[in-house]
Amino acid sequence: MPPAAAEPEATTTPAASPQQSVPTPPAEIFESWGRYPKYKARVVRLNWQSDFPAVLASSARAGIEGSALPVGLGRSYGDVGLLQNGTLLQTIGMDRLLAFDPATGILTAESGISLAQILDFSVPRGFFLPVTPGTKYVTLGGAIANDIHGKNHESAGSFACHVPCFELVRSDGSRRLCSRTENPDWFEATIGGMGLTGLITWAQLRLRPIVSRKMDVDHIQFHGIDEFLSLKQQYAQAEYNVSWMDCTSTGRNFARGIFMAGSHSAVPSELIPSLPPKLVFPFDAPGFALNRLSVAAFNALYFHKQMKPHVHAVQDYEPYFYPLDKILRWNRLYGRNGLVQFQYAIPWAHAKEGTIAILREIAASGLASFLAVLKAFGDIPSLGVMSFPEPGIMFALDFPIKPATFPLLQRLGDMTLEFGGRLYPAKDAAMTPTQFQTFYPAWQRFARFRDPMLTSSFWERVTGAEKRADGAERPTL
Ligand SMILES: Cc1cc2nc3c(=O)[nH]c(=O)nc-3n(C[C@H](O)[C@H](O)[C@H](O)COP(=O)(O)OP(=O)(O)OC[C@H]3O[C@@H](n4cnc5c(N)ncnc54)[C@H](O)[C@@H]3O)c2cc1C
Repeated sequence: MPPAAAEPEATTTPAASPQQSVPTPPAEIFESWGRYPKYKARVVRLNWQSDFPAVLASSARAGIEGSALPVGLGRSYGDVGLLQNGTLLQTIGMDRLLAFDPATGILTAESGISLAQILDFSVPRGFFLPVTPGTKYVTLGGAIANDIHGKNHESAGSFACHVPCFELVRSDGSRRLCSRTENPDWFEATIGGMGLTGLITWAQLRLRPIVSRKMDVDHIQFHGIDEFLSLKQQYAQAEYNVSWMDCTSTGRNFARGIFMAGSHSAVPSELIPSLPPKLVFPFDAPGFALNRLSVAAFNALYFHKQMKPHVHAVQDYEPYFYPLDKILRWNRLYGRNGLVQFQYAIPWAHAKEGTIAILREIAASGLASFLAVLKAFGDIPSLGVMSFPEPGIMFALDFPIKPATFPLLQRLGDMTLEFGGRLYPAKDAAMTPTQFQTFYPAWQRFARFRDPMLTSSFWERVTGAEKRADGAERPTL
């Protein structure tokens, strides 16, 4: 990464490709984080902002028909970042830091930069991400395109609330600077727009100051949704909160969990960059490794890992925000078949009854894994037409892929719909067209902004789009 320029004005000049002809490789399996579904696509790495739309022109010259989709680090779980038999334009070669203004905290970077790279640059300078997901291995472009949320949604809103502007390039070569005041309709369509409106080439992000890597953290055991809600009230002053849930237990232990509130430490200490992770999950675990017994045993151990019901600790930000990043490729734990995530937001009017009903259904199924997260979304409005967050309870749970998983997901999707909630496209591999179109009633308004050359397997699945010209089958479940 080149050193940061001092002047933010220097940012709008596109980095030009020394050669405009981009080779198109043969199709290969490109896996999303869930490793399901498995589709072949041509993966073309974009190194320069001008590679797009040059790569589409090269494909056309080579007689390769079909659509394309920009992708980042492939950390979405299902098919929102997949395109069966299409061309995936992977942005990770476009990772230049273009400008940083310490007076405002505004950083400008190409869209393929990862949040990990941003942290390596910003933490030693006393700045942190305004919103971060549970992994730092996502790109800036991917974070905007899914309008991701973090553990501070109640106080900070979603990611794009901290994005003053970005550039959007369409397949016809047209470029638009998008912000709340300039091309605002393109700004709103592209935030949470799942890569379908064009390529985000660069973006600005407003970072927040920190004086330490440390977090002040409280870990508190709870039993049931009422206790969770009252802890949330009690710790309303904490900057972040998230809860782990045991989704296997019934009876007295139903809906037990650990509430984790955290705030950046106000005590100054050394701001050094993080070390790279050393551990890699070495193999695909066998399908039977995650079963009702092993998950229930893990959950009981995890719940009781703290000897007291309430533990206060000071810890580094890495284990607080990114516990799963410690082991690269941990998704192999779910075996070759992969995993799906079920993630909903249910508005406050039905949040409690909906969550209890859904947790009962999950516990009865015996299919849950140990990765379950519960938190609240606040009422800071998201800027995207298709953004996922809405005020209420958010819940996310991983499921290993087994024959009974998809029927269960259909039931859970219908229950979410019945309670007035919605599912998160970034994590989805199972939503039906009816569910999607009810969850996101603005989808047709959004569709008017879609780039005609761009689509995804997710979009084709949930809009019931016709079979594409290149003959690719629509995914079926
Ligand atoms: C362990 C883990 C924890 C996570 N925790 C959270 C969480 O707490 N909150 C949350 O919201 N999400 C979370 N996620 C999901 C993740 O943050 C999002 O899926 C994110 O969008 C992935 O970014 P990516 O760079 O990998 O993009 P991809 O997954 O490669 O792509 C995501 C979408 O962005 C589009 N896209 C990518 N780059 C561009 C671009 N330059 N221009 C236009 N469109 C683009 C793609 O077309 C696709 O639709 C988590 C994922 C993992 C694996």
